[in-house]
Amino acid sequence: MSAVYNKVALIGLGLIAGSIALAARESGAAGRISGTARTAKTRSAARDLQLCDEIVDNAAAAVRNADLVILCVPVGAMGKVMSEIKPHLKPGAVITDVGSVKQEVIAEVSPHLPDHVHFIPGHPLAGTEQSGPYSGFAGLFSNRWWLLTPLPDTDPEELSRLRRFIRALGANVEDMEPAHHDTVLAVTSHTPHLIAYTMVGVADHLKRVTESEVIKYSAAGFRDFTRIAASDPTMWRDVFLNNKDAVLDILGRFTEELFVLQRAIRMGDGDHLHEYFTRTRAIRRGIIEAGQDTDAPDFGRSAQPGGKRLD
Ligand code: NAP
Repeated sequence: MSAVYNKVALIGLGLIAGSIALAARESGAAGRISGTARTAKTRSAARDLQLCDEIVDNAAAAVRNADLVILCVPVGAMGKVMSEIKPHLKPGAVITDVGSVKQEVIAEVSPHLPDHVHFIPGHPLAGTEQSGPYSGFAGLFSNRWWLLTPLPDTDPEELSRLRRFIRALGANVEDMEPAHHDTVLAVTSHTPHLIAYTMVGVADHLKRVTESEVIKYSAAGFRDFTRIAASDPTMWRDVFLNNKDAVLDILGRFTEELFVLQRAIRMGDGDHLHEYFTRTRAIRRGIIEAGQDTDAPDFGRSAQPGGKRLD
């Protein structure tokens, strides 16, 4: 395909940026890709991997002359990065981000936006528990949703161009209102991560079993929690600090449901438990039928490229 943007700049070179770079190169959606990361270690790894056409030492150099700038850093770092690149942006450039929270990112980035650029916030609903430049792979976005949360003054032509670029990476694009995005993600991603972190933390407190039995006999349930709980601590700290209200709301509802199930167990109310689990099983089937997961026992992970961590 012909390039959708002549020059794309990636700020941050971890799982998401690395996957964007690989998918954009495979599809030809970017004429040229420039990338940068905070540390020399990551920049050097990205150079070894030849993730981009050029890896430069700072964000200002990366965005020079870029038609599309993608902020791929933790949610809490978006505002700072935007303030650094502000004076160096090309007039007419599109700025987007991949942050897992939208309202706070918009609030942090907006004050630093020059008048001559277009900001279109976004969030790919695709990821793994891996992080860093070695973890990216071209197929990460394939058939996954990528939500855009355009602002009231977003230029429709720039919006459709960005959609074209994202579709070229393999994703399906949909627009969503930022506050609604944060509520939906609190249910589908943020609170489940918190629950997984908690469950693994609980097992860790039970020291008498942790070092031997919990690991040795970890059946699918606990093992799947540990996978989620291995996700990047910086990213997830920032998600919770920046989507506080929605997560606390869903967590409140979760706690109420948990008490109801706890009571059903105590009272021996098998009918309640059976009916509840039948409903939840149907939700899982719906996710598989929608093509958003596989019913393979290992969630299809054996078919996915393994990530090598930097640390
Ligand atoms: P990652 O693999 O940990 O990479 C993060 C990148 O950001 C690294 O290049 C890192 O540079 C840089 N960075 C970290 N802290 C920074 C700071 N304070 N200032 C400037 N740069 C900083 O993370 P990722 O998984 O690609 O996530 C990136 C973004 O995508 C996050 O906003 C996250 O919410 C969002 N997201 C993640 C997933 C997922 O499942 N992972 C899914 C959808 C969206 P160094 O390596 O040099 O430190």
